[in-house]
Amino acid sequence: MKGLMQDHPLLLTGILDYAARWHGEQEVVTRTVEGPVVISNYAEVHERARLCALALRRLGIQQGDRVATVAWNTCRHLESWYGIMGLGAVCHTLNPRLFLADLEYIMNHAEDKIVMFDLDLAGVIAKLRPKLATVQRLVALTDRQHMHKVEEAGLHGCLCYEELIEAERPRLDGFQWVRVDENDACGLCYTSGTTGRPKGVLYSHRANFLHTFTMAMPDALSLSSATSIMAIVPLFHANAWGLVFGAPMFGSKLVLPGPYLDGESLYHLMEAQRCTLAAGVPTVFMALLQYLHSSKQGLSTLSIMNTGGAACPPLLLEEFQEKRGIQMRHMWGMTELAPMGSVAGLKGTLPPMSREERMALQLKQGRPPQLVDMRIVDGSNRELPRDGKTPGDLQVRGPHVISRYFRHDKDATGEDQWFTTGDVATIDRFGHFQITDRSKDLIKTGGEWVSSIELDGIIMSHPAVLEAAVVGVPHPKWTERPLLVVVPQPGKQPSKDELLSYFKGKTAKWWIPDDVVFLKEIPHTATGKVSKMTLRQQLKDYKST
Ligand code: ADP
Repeated sequence: MKGLMQDHPLLLTGILDYAARWHGEQEVVTRTVEGPVVISNYAEVHERARLCALALRRLGIQQGDRVATVAWNTCRHLESWYGIMGLGAVCHTLNPRLFLADLEYIMNHAEDKIVMFDLDLAGVIAKLRPKLATVQRLVALTDRQHMHKVEEAGLHGCLCYEELIEAERPRLDGFQWVRVDENDACGLCYTSGTTGRPKGVLYSHRANFLHTFTMAMPDALSLSSATSIMAIVPLFHANAWGLVFGAPMFGSKLVLPGPYLDGESLYHLMEAQRCTLAAGVPTVFMALLQYLHSSKQGLSTLSIMNTGGAACPPLLLEEFQEKRGIQMRHMWGMTELAPMGSVAGLKGTLPPMSREERMALQLKQGRPPQLVDMRIVDGSNRELPRDGKTPGDLQVRGPHVISRYFRHDKDATGEDQWFTTGDVATIDRFGHFQITDRSKDLIKTGGEWVSSIELDGIIMSHPAVLEAAVVGVPHPKWTERPLLVVVPQPGKQPSKDELLSYFKGKTAKWWIPDDVVFLKEIPHTATGKVSKMTLRQQLKDYKST
């Protein structure tokens, strides 16, 4: 027997409708690409998103078309996102820091029809333009006053966003979002390529809607209308971890830092906007920490820090949570999961623990929420015990987990819809899982596995280290051995011995790297994570002895 309740599709545009109606006055603050801080609100975002939809329709966008955005976290980007989805089209966010060849591949693969881009990225678009096979129109996310900069970057014949949307105002009253099915596509995001050629994850309204509830729960981000969110994680990094939907769904204030992601700029914006929650990858928080140390400042309103995308270094937990009283919520996720897969929230049923034990648990990747089913398996797909020791391939499934990459002809999942993440993990008796490594970053020495991620975490706490990573390098006897790569803090010159002896007593003796290579800079992926793949390439001529 069927239930007798209404069948309303879970559409993301409904989130903005709600925010405009019930939290219309709530602020959306942007540090604009042009410079000034501009304050909008959900009522205005709603209106301008509808104007944007009208403008895109006039330019020929129809249901199912892909519209690319190459833009930072700004209000115009947010409006465009909803405008695109409101036509039943797909918002394809792109990371401007990707290599040009990757951007070209991705945009042609996605068959984007229109590209909307930020002013400071006009140069990137100018270089790409001759190579884009399907793009028909370019829209600069700026006003007429600044359009000359687009021309100066060598990009001619672009449309001006502000003019385009303002011209639609007379038609605004009669406009309705295109009503689509909740399983229709709404967004497209390619994985950043740390695991090979970029692959497209095509989100549906339903998947992102359900994910939004999950990420806002008390054990995760605890969003409410009293939250002021500093969204450092870019909109192009898996829907800004869902914040583009979560902030309007719960009427939270949304603060968007534009392209200004250095510690000083973030600090001043967070303080001025009284941010209570900040979300970003560990690298940006390390930069923020450095600024706080050098300027001897404190964060007066921040109470939750949500970090993910890479393992949380113990130093971040120590400095922000233990010393400054800001709760650290360590999250694990993947583009393929929309993206949240777990948060390291502490259960009420945990036994009493020492500070060290509690911190060790928080540094694990945590527990899956309601809609993510998770397990670890051996090479024959047999589930492994939750003993906190046995590592296995981490698999997940659920309504916001990928089933197939965009334009692939085979599913990305195996038996019973399990998706193999490429991460290797243990799960402990409390249900907290810990990534021991990415399958590609594991180091195999003398037939045994070494977790490079664990070694990274140890050395990052060394006071003379600005950034560090451990990678496997070929070894004639042991197959591979761990090698430590270090960027020292400015003005510090730690010796190799000093760095290597720092591992003593903190890990198994045979895990300790054999040597140290000093670099001025560690290569990062386009989403700000250490790119071990690039590091391994850079170090391919390194000779172990
Ligand atoms: P890409 O694989 O292109 O970098 P994602 O940004 O989706 O794409 O990265 C997902 C991967 O990032 C995960 O599979 C995992 O290896 C890593 N990751 C994400 N969060 C964490 C975390 N908290 N701790 C350790 N690794 C993490």
